[in-house]
Amino acid sequence: MPDYKAPVRDIQFVVNEVLESEKVYQSLPGYEEATEDLMNAIIDEGARFAENVLAPLNRVGDEEGCQWNPECVTTPEGYKEAYAQYVDNGWPALSAAPEYGGQGMPTLMGIIMSELAGTADWAWVMYPGLSHGAVDTVAEHGDAEQKAKYLTKLVSGEWTGTMCLTESQCGSDLGLLRTKAEPQADGSYAITGTKIFISAGEHDMADNIVHIVLARLPDAPAGTKGISLFIVPRCNVNDDGSVGERNAVNCASIEKKMGIHGNATCVLNFDGARGFLIGEPNRGLNAMFTFMNTARIGTAVQGLAHAELSFQGALTYAKDRLAMRSLTGPKNPDGPADPIIVHPDVRRMLLTQKAFAEGSRAFLYFLAQQGDIVAKGSEEDAKVADDLMALLTPIGKAFVTEVGFESANLGVQVYGGHGFIREWGMEQIVRDARIAMLYEGTTGIQALDLSLIHI
Ligand SMILES: Cc1cc2nc3c(=O)[nH]c(=O)nc-3n(C[C@H](O)[C@H](O)[C@H](O)COP(=O)(O)OP(=O)(O)OC[C@H]3O[C@@H](n4cnc5c(N)ncnc54)[C@H](O)[C@@H]3O)c2cc1C
Repeated sequence: MPDYKAPVRDIQFVVNEVLESEKVYQSLPGYEEATEDLMNAIIDEGARFAENVLAPLNRVGDEEGCQWNPECVTTPEGYKEAYAQYVDNGWPALSAAPEYGGQGMPTLMGIIMSELAGTADWAWVMYPGLSHGAVDTVAEHGDAEQKAKYLTKLVSGEWTGTMCLTESQCGSDLGLLRTKAEPQADGSYAITGTKIFISAGEHDMADNIVHIVLARLPDAPAGTKGISLFIVPRCNVNDDGSVGERNAVNCASIEKKMGIHGNATCVLNFDGARGFLIGEPNRGLNAMFTFMNTARIGTAVQGLAHAELSFQGALTYAKDRLAMRSLTGPKNPDGPADPIIVHPDVRRMLLTQKAFAEGSRAFLYFLAQQGDIVAKGSEEDAKVADDLMALLTPIGKAFVTEVGFESANLGVQVYGGHGFIREWGMEQIVRDARIAMLYEGTTGIQALDLSLIHI
């Protein structure tokens, strides 16, 4: 696995010089604390955490993977300790709202931390990453009691969240989902069904897991208009906020898969589990769409992360590996051959990777900043930013994840045969990068979104 060196200067260049973030955030009520100095300090600290704590886990996570047992899923060695450190340092709360214990930094800062941590180890960052969707859903659509019960613990990172949409018969077409929600006398719902492919659905890193589950009420219309949204905690939560007895939700198995081995991809059985409706009945998909854009930017970051990591590995190797002579005469006359970076075809590959990483970073940070304008800008500015995001987010998700995978492949090519060999770590990047074009809406589904905008 290439050593990850966080590209702090590149990140700060986009934040400060390209996007003029301090100026933007000083004009957005609630984000005034986001000065250039503070943002730079956060980036420096995040870079240190990513390089020192997370990067060493990337290979361990791939080799060891997760282990299932009937009670729990054990994450790879070091994952749990790194998560405890992440929570102690306050990272989960970075861009969450202050009323729930968050630090109130812009979403852009959260996206940057996700890039730093995710480039160091994407499989690891998915555990805290999934919580953001749960936080946004409960904050936007939960009632006062739900917010009080779940948000502070999710924001602090004491508990993590999941998004439970997919079932064996449906992923892209959620109108086909079958999980049932039966109303109970006490106002709760009994949730019954099986969800598959649930990232971070079970693990040993936090005291509780808050599942956000899509299910159907008994009288629900067919298709997407009959889907409701529920909170289903792994362990019930007592009135005083403490973790109670186990709910009827169990991890039946975890998937053996192509990449991101360190992240548990779970089959979850809900067997009359106690759940609580979020928002209005039959409006579950609408509720989810309110944070779809930020969630998709979060997934697009994976493409950026793998483009960057593969580029760093390829660049180091190309400066070191010797083969033949430069077309313009020897560049290493005292050595037996020139480093391969002198060859036009190798330069083409490296520069393509570099362009993908830097362009993707600028694109995604721009989108994240537009999201902040939607959240805190004037009505007029928010409308323009929202329209822009509706158009650009599916492009961002599809394009950046596709070029992230292309870049990972180019990285293997720069290494020649050694790229195919496991010990160099370049083939892991290809395997890890592949999933980003599939989840959070496949590339084809992003394209479909775009065609719907025009209708
Ligand atoms: C490792 C991993 C982690 C995951 N994590 C989660 C998670 O945390 N929570 C969760 O709920 N789900 C999760 N998923 C599920 C993931 O979101 C789905 O697999 C994905 O949405 C695709 O759904 P599908 O697999 O059912 O494919 P399908 O929907 O069956 O699609 C198959 C193919 O048909 C294409 N297609 C379908 N409809 C159309 C159309 N109308 N037009 C053009 N093309 C179309 C698709 O683009 C795709 O190429 C995860 C999956 C994996 C593998």
